[in-house]
This record gives sequence, structure tokens and C-alpha cells, in this order.
Amino acid sequence: MSEREWEFAERVGRVEPSATVAVGNKASKLKEQGVDVVDLSVGEPDFPTPARIRETGRQAIADGHTTYTSSNGIPKLREAVSKCLKGKGVPCGPENVVVTPGAKQALFETMQALVDEGDEVVLLDPAWVSYEAIAKIAGADLTRVDLGQHGFALEPALDDLAAAVSDETTMLVVNSPSNPTGAVFSADAMKGVRDLAVEHDVTVVADEIYDRITYDAEALSLASFDGMAERTVTINGFSKAYSMTGWRLGYLAAPEPLIEQVSKVHSHSVTCAANFVQHAGVEALQSVETEVAEMVAAFEQRREIVVDLLADQGKMIPKPEGAFYAMIPTDEGPTDDMEWCDRAIEDAHVAAVPGSAFNAPGYARISYAASEERLKDGFARLANEDLI
Ligand code: PMP
Ligand code: GLU
Repeated sequence: MSEREWEFAERVGRVEPSATVAVGNKASKLKEQGVDVVDLSVGEPDFPTPARIRETGRQAIADGHTTYTSSNGIPKLREAVSKCLKGKGVPCGPENVVVTPGAKQALFETMQALVDEGDEVVLLDPAWVSYEAIAKIAGADLTRVDLGQHGFALEPALDDLAAAVSDETTMLVVNSPSNPTGAVFSADAMKGVRDLAVEHDVTVVADEIYDRITYDAEALSLASFDGMAERTVTINGFSKAYSMTGWRLGYLAAPEPLIEQVSKVHSHSVTCAANFVQHAGVEALQSVETEVAEMVAAFEQRREIVVDLLADQGKMIPKPEGAFYAMIPTDEGPTDDMEWCDRAIEDAHVAAVPGSAFNAPGYARISYAASEERLKDGFARLANEDLI
């Protein structure tokens, strides 16, 4: 085929491919070549989707739930989502919910509906890699507030946030529990966000996808705070708590005027989330409490192992209070986190994501959604290569 000179849209030139997905792909490629890789890269639970959810999905296909659904999602699922949000103190009805193929799509549609070229979006660093990309595709200018110097907590960084947010700010993204740090923001931190958002009339995107995976802390819903329901877009999904990454199911909840606009993007892009997957989602929200508790208990045990293994190497990290990630300072071996991760995968055969992907150079993120045995093996390999 002859080479053609493509002229790409300027918006795709603003972003790089997802670093989390890229490292995961690199690890998969090595595994295909027969290399024994300890893959601590992509944040994906290592448990199967709970059996009841799988069975409901299978039955839904057998029952012929294979057509399009109403664009914003089947009523049963939107009702179950709104009930779940009401349980967290968020005023919400089925009319406030759009069911999406994954939380990523919910974030994408939200930004498309709210962010114009040159609008300011504020991120709290370290920030999950796709916030920056999704915001930039929408045309955003980013303002970043660093939580790294405050042990990844938001409360001590509220003054910095106050300095960053102004009447010019369009949107602030808050992710608690946080990917990549595992921090869970306190009630006072959330109140601080509320005060600033109300004062400057800012829309807040609250990504709560890890809210069921917490250890010694409670994940709070921003939309439950006074004055926040009318300005918050709550994002959530089924990938993490229910180990349903490949099903692609998530949602956003927001006031109706925004739902009306988001629905346009939704209906013209994905039409709807897969029908039988939505049925499985109802089952997830209603009947797998025990299975979720078991997975969370396993993650908690692994968190202890990771914190202890790092302490054995003289590295004290703030204990993650939620999600299943830890940030390892890359101050041993090559101090450049990209180089550190290259050496980790090439020499130690351990896959981790460079902190730079989260605007946090000097760290590598590991996902501890891996078995205790693999975690211990991975850390021994890193120590062998003098990386920790
Ligand atoms: N938000 C955060 C913070 C995440 O870590 C992820 C992980 N993929 C997502 C959103 C998107 O999840 P999904 O599209 O699988 O629902
Ligand atoms: N959110 C997970 C991660 O950060 C999955 C990959 C992705 O979507 O970024 O690793």
C-alpha cells in the first residue's frame, strides 16, 4: 500500500495514548513471549466477576435482551443506581442517571457537554491519567494542584486549591478514593471543596468509582454536601467493586439540564450501554454484598503486605485508605520514573506505571490487585535489581 500523508485533527495531537493501558499492553506482549511478568500495571481486580452477575448476564442473553435499550439505560438499572446514590445522601431519581459503557465514557460525555475550547479545568495531582486526556480532547486548559507535598491528602492542600480556583474556573475533578494514590478525602476536605465550588460557581466532577473499596476510611459523596447536588456530576462504574472491567458498564448522575445535554453526546456516540450487561448491573447493585466484602478484605490484606514490604526496604509511604494502588518513590536506582519503570519491566519483569503519567514524576504506581504470592515475588525482584 502506498504511504499517504494524513492530516489529523488538532485535538488528537493534544494527547498521548493512555499510559496505564500502554504499560499493560507491554506486559501482555512479554507474557505472550513466555516471559513471567509480575503485572502490577493496569488497575484491574484479579477476581472473576461474581457468579450471580455472570449468571444474570447469561440469562439476559438467553431471554433475548440483545436489542438497543432506551438511550440513557433500562429503567430498572437507573432506578437501582438512584436508590444506591440516595443511600449515600445524594438527591437522585432515575431521570438524573445516564448509564454508559464504562465510567470513562461517562467522563468523556460530561466533559464534551461542559467544557469549551480554552475553559479551565482543575485537577488534583497525582491525577488519573485519563482526566487530562479527556479534558484536553474537549479543549480544556488545565490548572493543577499538587497534593504530593501533603502526603496525598486534600485537606492540607485546601489553601493551594483556593489559590487555583477562581470565577474563571469551569470544572474541578475530585477523585476519592484516588487512583493513583489510594487517598480518601476527609469530610473537612470535601467541605472545603464545596465552599470553593459554591463561591466561584464551579461544576465539580466527583469520580467515585472506588467508593466501595475503602479500608479505615469512609468514602463520602460530594453531591451529598449542602449546595453540591446542583453542581456535581457523580461518576461511578462497575469495573472495580464488582470486578466487571470487561463488561464495560458505568454511569453518571447529574441535574436534569445537564442530563439533557449529555444525552445528546451519548445518543450520537454509543446509543446505549449493552442491554444484557445492564441487566447484570442491576444484579450487581442488588445482591453481591458478600462477594464485594470478600474482595475488599483481600485488597486490604494485600495493602498491608505492600506497605510492610516497602517498609522493609526503608520506604515509608502514606498508607492507602482506599482503591488498590500505591505510589512507590523512585529514589533508588534510576531516579527518573520512566527509566525506573523501563528497568522494572525489562530487568525485573515487574510492570508498573510511571508517576509522570499522573503528573507525579518521582513515583511509580503499582496496582496491588494481584495475589499475595505475586506481590511478594514482584517486590523481591525489584529489590534484587536495587530498584527499592
Ligand atoms: N475513573 C478512575 C479513577 C479509574 O481508575 C478508572 C479505571 N479504568 C475509570 C474511571 C474508568 O473505569 P471504567 O471505564 O472501566 O468504568
Ligand atoms: N483505571 C485503570 C488504571 O488506572 C485501568 C486502565 C485505565 O483505564 O486507565 O490502571
